[in-house]
Amino acid sequence: MEPVRKRKFSSMWEHFEQISPNKVKCLLCAKELGYNNNTSSMLRHFRALHENSEGNVAGPSPVSRKKDLDDALVSMIVKDTQPFSIVEDTGFREFVAKLDPTYILPTRKAMVEERYQHEKEKAKAEVQKVAAVSLTADMCTSINMDAYLAVTCHFIDETI
Ligand SMILES: [Zn+2]
Repeated sequence: MEPVRKRKFSSMWEHFEQISPNKVKCLLCAKELGYNNNTSSMLRHFRALHENSEGNVAGPSPVSRKKDLDDALVSMIVKDTQPFSIVEDTGFREFVAKLDPTYILPTRKAMVEERYQHEKEKAKAEVQKVAAVSLTADMCTSINMDAYLAVTCHFIDETI
């Protein structure tokens, strides 16, 4: 038997646990497989679902991992009141690259837009439930003379 294959066979027990004489459980996805005193079904399952091109354990699918990380990043920014521009900071970018060189940080614009859409839909759904609203408008000018119109909306909902 060639050495690579041998290593692969024995290493299957790193990812499976025997739960009965004829059943094993995948430690990566909790799926139970039949076991007949050999690792072939385990190997087949591992190769089909958990192996990347280098023969190592693959993480969650790249798309869902990217989405998870993007969401976690936006949550961190919101919770810690960090500026969205953190994604452009050299130190932060280097830190993220060290953690996971395959992760591509979202742009500041994409993050703001996504969160804005999300919060807008939430606010719209809330306002749609109420009978009446009170609007207040407030005009102001920023330090570099940009004009802002702030509109505040008050209403009473069923939770009060
Ligand atoms: Zn599995």
